[in-house]
Amino acid sequence: MATYKYVIVGGGMTADAAVKGIREVDPDGSIGLVSDENDAPYKRPPLSKGLWKDTPLESIWCKTDSRGVTLHLGRSVQSIDLRRKQVADDQGGVYTFDKLLLATGGTPRRLPFGGDRVIYFRTLRDYRALRALADQGRKFAVIGGGFIGAEIAAALAMNQKDVTMAFPEEGIGARVFPRALSLFLNDYYRQKGVTVLEEHLVIGLEDEGKRLALRLRATKDSPERRLLVDGVVAGVGIQPRAELAEKAGLAVDNGIVVDETLHAGHPDIFAAGDVAAFPSPALGRRVRVEHEDNANTMGRFAGRAMAGKAEPYRHLPFFYSDLFDLGYEAVGELDSRLETVEDWKEPYREGVVYYLKQGRVRGVLLWNVWDQVDAARRLIAEPGPHTPVSLKGRLPAAK
Ligand code: NAD
Repeated sequence: MATYKYVIVGGGMTADAAVKGIREVDPDGSIGLVSDENDAPYKRPPLSKGLWKDTPLESIWCKTDSRGVTLHLGRSVQSIDLRRKQVADDQGGVYTFDKLLLATGGTPRRLPFGGDRVIYFRTLRDYRALRALADQGRKFAVIGGGFIGAEIAAALAMNQKDVTMAFPEEGIGARVFPRALSLFLNDYYRQKGVTVLEEHLVIGLEDEGKRLALRLRATKDSPERRLLVDGVVAGVGIQPRAELAEKAGLAVDNGIVVDETLHAGHPDIFAAGDVAAFPSPALGRRVRVEHEDNANTMGRFAGRAMAGKAEPYRHLPFFYSDLFDLGYEAVGELDSRLETVEDWKEPYREGVVYYLKQGRVRGVLLWNVWDQVDAARRLIAEPGPHTPVSLKGRLPAAK
């Protein structure tokens, strides 16, 4: 049995940030980290971005173990004993804690076919698997038009692969971007050589010698199409890994429910990152955010709270992406079902999109517009009312 002052379940960026947070307050307290990945914590964004350009693999390591942490890798925590303050893993390991952090992230949703032949792109292991296929093969299918689909399709195309993207919506990033921008992205990807099959369902996958045959059908009734490829990548969303918390009787509602100091309904148990549903004062409701800035900032707050310096987590996280030569930063609620106000300096190349609900700005998309995230946060905090006319030219703000 191992005894630690702090036990962290999970080995992602949130876990690494929590270690930093603990060490800001407590330089010596023992920390044990249990992760079911075989790799020590690493930065996740380069897996679908920089590693396909010129970022070297060595640069992604978080170096968590340099902060006096014992890493227990390749082990999956199965249960929490609240009374004994212990967690147990799948290999008979038991870890006793004073304070526990659940930073278990999310599991990729899976399609009902294809098994392990589909790469559900999430971990370094998945990156290695896709890299190995890309070293050999030329033709790839990318399923999903969300964050992973858009980034991986661009990454493979930039590495001279023949890429077909298929997703059920009308356009790339349709759940996030206003319709016209999303349709523009379909054209933009086509110009970059990607075959874009919008409004398509993937209905099966079969082995065909060393290759894979993907079966597709347009949503609007049409004959089936077969696509022969060397590899299939899917990004069809994730589900928060909240089973452990649920089994232990902690509150779970689209993720582990935490309060503003990141306690998961127990004085010694915390949750943070993709798995944690936290109250956002800026948005006036409980949210769960699946992006890097939230992992880093919330993880650090959780670590500090575990070490006795609890402060309310009031951060409104931002996120960002690169799509070939286009890039953006965004903050708040980017839901294309909201009213959107588009203010383009150059259509779809540079501009700002505001997402409005009842006269308040809920989210801001900064499309090739930089250093405006804090100004966007201030705008979201304003009571308004805002209108399309009042928002024109609001951002970028004068410096
Ligand atoms: P996502 O939620 O961004 O996109 C899911 C997509 O799945 C949808 O847009 C849809 O096109 C597609 N889809 C759903 N069901 C489908 C089906 N049956 N067939 C085909 N397509 C289907 O999720 P993701 O792209 O898988 O990303 C996973 C997680 O990683 C997300 O939490 C995301 O926020 C995070 N991530 C973030 C970034 C970033 O911040 N830049 C980059 C990569 C990943």
